[in-house]
Amino acid sequence: QKGPNGKYTVTLIPGDGIGPEISQSVKDIYSAAGAPIQWEEVDVTPILKNGKTAIPDAAIASVRKNTVALKGPLATPIGKGHVSLNLTLRRTFNLFANVRPCASIQGYKTPYDNVDTVLIRENTEGEYSGIEHEIVDGVVQSIKLITWDASERVAKYAFHYAQANGRKRVTAVHKANIMKMSDGMFLSACRQVAKDFPGIQYDEDLLDRACLQITQNPAPYADRVMVMPNLYGDILSDMCAGLIGGLGLTPSGNIGRDASIFEAVHGSAPDIAGKGLANPTALLLSSLMMLRHMNLNEYADRIEKATLGTIAEGKTITGDLGGKASTKEYTDAIVKRLSKV
Ligand code: ATP
Ligand code: MG
Repeated sequence: QKGPNGKYTVTLIPGDGIGPEISQSVKDIYSAAGAPIQWEEVDVTPILKNGKTAIPDAAIASVRKNTVALKGPLATPIGKGHVSLNLTLRRTFNLFANVRPCASIQGYKTPYDNVDTVLIRENTEGEYSGIEHEIVDGVVQSIKLITWDASERVAKYAFHYAQANGRKRVTAVHKANIMKMSDGMFLSACRQVAKDFPGIQYDEDLLDRACLQITQNPAPYADRVMVMPNLYGDILSDMCAGLIGGLGLTPSGNIGRDASIFEAVHGSAPDIAGKGLANPTALLLSSLMMLRHMNLNEYADRIEKATLGTIAEGKTITGDLGGKASTKEYTDAIVKRLSKV
């Protein structure tokens, strides 16, 4: 919703660890680019509610109102009764699809220069349903929950995404040879949805084969969208991230029924927090997915050009990419380049 000042209000959750530093970098770059975004900053430091950790109501209300949020990493509290805040956000806003693109950055040297994968991960169930119990001493069971509705919903999103982004194929990634019923139903849902999209090709790939093939030759995966159950997406997306230069570069979007929340794939990086060394690129690229989600493509394209150009030039990049620049110096370099693109 556009406000009276011509700007769209978006919730900003700076997050923990390096979160505040990389959020500051995004804010600085957006003001320099004149992007029509008004940040509504909220604190999600967990509060205790009925003996359990929960996200403050004001933060929930802000995301609900704005329906779009940019989120820094949240550290998962360890110990009993502390649910993951990330999981809580997913459940609260029905964030059913997690979109993770990985594209090689031209000029930044990695084993391949032609990686261009898009992976869509089912985000609400599967191995992450959190249902585990001890049957008898020494025997534990963990439930992988697959439902038709969630499978169909994420499959539909994958096909829509392929259509909207000029990708000609959807590949469902699975282990239905072993998990015949659960992954089998996931595939059935995908096949059914595929019938409604005659313009998009559909095929299926075993998870292990996909890993082997992408690491040997990622090129064929540039024409498609991969869709898969929760855990497979978690692992396969980190593998793709490794191919393009690591966690500092990989964005993601959580698409939901009630809101969409964009965030970096990486965590709070406590080892470098507060030192001004973090690479803000992943959060920045996540924010560009957000701009495109809001149909603000021109701003996204311009900021992307300045960012990728800065990395390709290689003079002012952060330590994780092999450079010596601080978060601030890298941010300033992008801001400077904005006036040239
Ligand atoms: P969390 O529990 O929040 O996930 P973590 O200890 O697992 O934290 P990650 O954030 O997942 O840490 O990061 C793993 C490694 O990658 C760390 O060594 C971290 O410093 C590095 N790293 C992650 N993100 C960035 C970034 N944006 N810039 C630079 N280094 C990063
Ligand atoms: Mg981590």
